[in-house]
Order: sequence, then C-alpha cells, then structure tokens
Amino acid sequence: MNGKNISKKILYWYDNNKRVLPWRKKVSKKQREYFTLVSEFMLQQTQVKTVIPYFINFIKKIPSLKGLSKVKNQTLMRSWEGLGYYSRAKNLKKTAIKILKEYNGRLPSNVEDLKKLPGIGDYTSRAIMAIAFNKKIIPLDGNVERILKRVLYLRKEEEISKEYLNSKIHFFDLSNRASDYAQAIMEFGALVCKPNNPLCIKCPISLNCISFEKNDFTIKTKNKFNKIKYFEAQIYQNNDKYLLVRNDKFNFLKNMPIFPMNEVEKKKYKYSNSKKINIKLSNMDMKIILNKIYRLPNIKNKILLDRTKTKSIILPSFTKKIFSSISKI
Ligand code: SF4
Repeated sequence: MNGKNISKKILYWYDNNKRVLPWRKKVSKKQREYFTLVSEFMLQQTQVKTVIPYFINFIKKIPSLKGLSKVKNQTLMRSWEGLGYYSRAKNLKKTAIKILKEYNGRLPSNVEDLKKLPGIGDYTSRAIMAIAFNKKIIPLDGNVERILKRVLYLRKEEEISKEYLNSKIHFFDLSNRASDYAQAIMEFGALVCKPNNPLCIKCPISLNCISFEKNDFTIKTKNKFNKIKYFEAQIYQNNDKYLLVRNDKFNFLKNMPIFPMNEVEKKKYKYSNSKKINIKLSNMDMKIILNKIYRLPNIKNKILLDRTKTKSIILPSFTKKIFSSISKI
C-alpha cells in the first residue's frame, strides 16, 4: 500500500469541505494561541457542534488571555455552564495565570512546557503545537485513531494500543501546512471516515484503505469500562424550595450543587417503586431512584433553591435533568 501523497489528498479534501468554525477565524498569532487554547479545552470532552455556541459566547465575554487570567470565577462558570466537566474551566484560568506570569503572556511552543500547564496533557499539547504553532505533529485523537485502524486494517489487541497507533502515524506523511493538516485529518475522520457508515464514496484515500478493499469497516476498541451504577437521590421539597448540597462525596461534579444521594445495591434499585431515571456520564451509566420527601431536613452545607430561580445559581446539567424529571412525578 502506498502512503504517498496522503497529505495532498486530505488537504485537497479539507480545502473544499472544511467546516466554518469560530476558532478558525483569521486572527493575529497571539489571538490564534488564545483561540486554540480555549477551543482545545472545550473540545476535550465535547463534540464540535456542541462547542461552537459556547466558544462564541466565551470569547465575547472573555476576549483575551489576560482577561481570562483576571476573570471572576462566577463569570467564568457562567460562561461554561452547560458544557460540563467544570474542572476544565478552572484549569483554563489557572493556565492563563501561569502563562501570564511565567511565559510573558504567550503559550510555550514545546510539548514539555505545555504539559506543565494545568489541564494540558499529551493530546492537547500536541494539538496546540500543530494548530497554533504549525509544527509538523499529528495529534492522535479518536478520529485519527479510527482512520488508522481502518486504512491499516488493525484488528488485533496489540495493534490498537496508543503506542502502536502512534508508531503508525507516519501513514499520514507530513505537510508544511502542519496546522491545516492536523485539523484536516481530524475533520476528515469526523465527517467522512465516521464511526458508523463511513462515506467511502467521498473518500480521497479509499485506494490506500485496506478496510475499503475488504469491505469490512468494523472498528476494534478496547472494552470501555462503562460501568452501570445505582444511586438513590433524596428530593427534599417544601413548596417551591428544593434542597441541594455541594458534592464532596463523588469523584464526578466535584463541588457542584447536586441533590443529596448515595450509591445503592442493584437489588434496592430493582425493587424500588419510586420514580427512576438514567443519566449517562462519560464513563458511567447512572441509574437513579428519585425519592420525594416533603420536608427540609437540617443538613450541613445545604443550598435551598427555589425552583423558579434555578437560573440564579450555576447548576450542572446532571442536576437540571433531575429537576426536569421531578416535575413529572
Ligand atoms: S475508504 Fe472508507 S473506511 Fe477507508 S479511510 Fe476512506 S472513509 Fe474511511
């Protein structure tokens, strides 16, 4: 199989098909660094189409790295509200403060220093290097992994580890248009070599693809630990007032307001007659019993929230989902 000219083919496709995304706007070099930083933090756990309005709103409210370093936490969280994984927003601000203090307001242009910044790991540092600094690096995200697995027809357990995939990344060859090329490959994965039903008919590299030749597009993945866990939430209510607590108990949604809850056995969940809901987090399916209790107990650190004023406090979508389903009880 010939890997030559892969970059030309993918870039040609990109130039004719790329999406208009707000962080791709033509801006100064300094602003490009800021746009890349914010968009890459937002994209860490969230899809492009969800991120777009949040990015536009965020940049409107906090247009510069300097502004971000000084922004009030309340404004920061408001601008992030609904995007989830709030630790990303906190790390983003910490990173801005550090860049201002230690790097004179400009992002460091090497992977080692980037990885010392809060919230920046292997993937994000490589994405920043390619996108903001035009370095010839191809960050291995889920899209890039999928394309590699298909074009090289990687099926065995040992062939789908990150290390192995990284060792095969030279399939893509390199381009002087490194920034465009990194974005082009990821975009190509998202729009053409899609997880289900890849659009091989529109694919510029189908002649380089073993899966296409074999007409077998299934993807091998490591078994994700998508655990099912069972919880019981206490919905304490008095007229329009509901009781929430700041979460210091569970590893997810740390410090965010949630209904008091505890983990329970599957058996208890199964035999409970109360209303139940399912909420999917990235690594866990939560099955939750909702117990309505018409009194307000004395609990430490409680937050009393009037249901008509849910907008006056920053609530994770997790809590909002429970709020909307209890109105139907
Ligand atoms: S031919 Fe199909 S499976 Fe192969 S890279 Fe192109 S879109 Fe993906």
